[in-house]
Amino acid sequence: MVRQTENDARIVPPGGTIGVLGGGQLGRMLALASARLGLRTHIFAPEDHNPAYDVAAARTIAPYTDEDALASFAAAVDVVTYEFENVPAETVDILTARGARVAPGAKALAAAQDRLVEKEFVRAVGAQTAPFHAVDDLASLEEGLEAVGRPAILKTRRLGYDGKGQTTIGAGARDLGRTWQEANHKAWEEIGARPAILEGFIDFACEISVIGARAAGGEIALYDPPENRHRGGILRTSIVPADIRLESAEAARTITAKLMRALDYVGVIGVEFFVLKDGAVMVNEFAPRVHNSGHWTLDACACSQFEQHIRAVAGWPLGDPARHSDAVMENLIGQEADDWLACAGTSGLSLHLYGKHEARPGRKMGHVTRLKRP
Ligand code: AMP
Repeated sequence: MVRQTENDARIVPPGGTIGVLGGGQLGRMLALASARLGLRTHIFAPEDHNPAYDVAAARTIAPYTDEDALASFAAAVDVVTYEFENVPAETVDILTARGARVAPGAKALAAAQDRLVEKEFVRAVGAQTAPFHAVDDLASLEEGLEAVGRPAILKTRRLGYDGKGQTTIGAGARDLGRTWQEANHKAWEEIGARPAILEGFIDFACEISVIGARAAGGEIALYDPPENRHRGGILRTSIVPADIRLESAEAARTITAKLMRALDYVGVIGVEFFVLKDGAVMVNEFAPRVHNSGHWTLDACACSQFEQHIRAVAGWPLGDPARHSDAVMENLIGQEADDWLACAGTSGLSLHLYGKHEARPGRKMGHVTRLKRP
């Protein structure tokens, strides 16, 4: 007989239901992974149409603060997770008060929702970040520029993604015919004059990320870090393995494990790093969810990041994160997805489309992965 452990109470068996807040492509791929394990998915999201509904067993369409809808959702699912980090704290409070188990928990959400809290948390586990300074007005912006130097990046503390809510303050305001004060004022207005963080500009060699998972019992699985290339603030390409030193990859993996332990984390996390020219790594930010830079795991690993997340939140043992192939993942953004037929006909290319109807500029419509035997 299998020995009963305190975690057994948390195990969601096949036939059970995973509740997911958010119905974008990440929710869709989580639902597909759940189905493979014999689990049902119930999506909770405010939109009338979204990519996840097409593949989930159940849906609730309601605002994230609708108490009645959240209460029914809590009663209908065995565990709640989410596919985006800006879930209101109030939503998690309501669900928890109704007896729902939410994973990853409120601690991870709170840290990931505020860039200042996030950076302080990262420093507290002993990892490096860009130099930073809290900015609440023009005076603290000037102080920050003294502290971190120019050029620098001004980012809103909350609700930024894909390079939105941030602006660069260059080294050469005078070259643009402006005084420093005018340049600072413009940057402050550009981000909406909201609480912000000023970061020193890092002249990195490349960007990588680590997709990590932690189970309720503390077991950890870490994927190989891909190199991530962005354009216009949006991830374009992830290449694994990254062309970096083994020590840099190991340092990033160790930091990811430390962060997950410090956050009492359950689920998959995506931690983004800058790799400096001397091989040192700095945390840029982390996302308490499955991550775009981990999409290659669907094709290059026995257990994808999506299955890994479902396993973790459902209390199952983690899967093997080992990579059986090298991989290059490219996002299909906006009208790039119009080439789906050519992609589908290209040998060696795995095509993933998210079922979005309108190809707006900058919108992630799908991705393709090309595998190469290492
Ligand atoms: P973020 O929204 O913070 O992930 O920033 C989006 C992208 O901007 C990152 O992936 C980097 O390419 C770049 N970036 C962000 N912060 C910095 C920084 N402090 N120094 C240099 N580049 C940065």
